Amino acid sequence: MSSIFTKIISGEIPAYKVAEDDQFLAFLDINPNAKGHTLCIPKKEVNKIFDMEEDNYLELMKFSRKVAQAIERTVPCKRIGMAVVGLEVPHVHVHLIPLQDMEDMRFVRKTTLSEIEFDALAKAIQKNM
Ligand code: 5GP
Repeated sequence: MSSIFTKIISGEIPAYKVAEDDQFLAFLDINPNAKGHTLCIPKKEVNKIFDMEEDNYLELMKFSRKVAQAIERTVPCKRIGMAVVGLEVPHVHVHLIPLQDMEDMRFVRKTTLSEIEFDALAKAIQKNM
């Protein structure tokens, strides 16, 4: 069965996309730790990040770095944190999280955004790519 993220890639499920190329997609996390929390995924569905082909893994890091720089240009924060967990969705994803403090990395404190706020934020990050 396709992962929920493969359904986002195919357009079956909507997402607030911030960047895309032929191999990777970045979109806003629907239940963000902080405003600007973004997920970078490979279009090829792989469960665990360290099972990726080395070249693809390095390309994902390169893509994530570009997206992180665009988020940092868009969202006021001290820095962008990066995490890989994958316990909820078995499709590789790099979490990029604008940080104010350590609590932003704990996946406990969550923030809510309206559809309008999500849409405006995704467009603002796109412009800064
Ligand atoms: P993990 O698998 O790393 O534990 O977490 C999965 C992440 O994916 C969570 O932060 C969760 O909010 C996010 N997520 C789960 N389902 C969706 C979805 O349908 N759309 C978006 N944009 N994010 C999702």
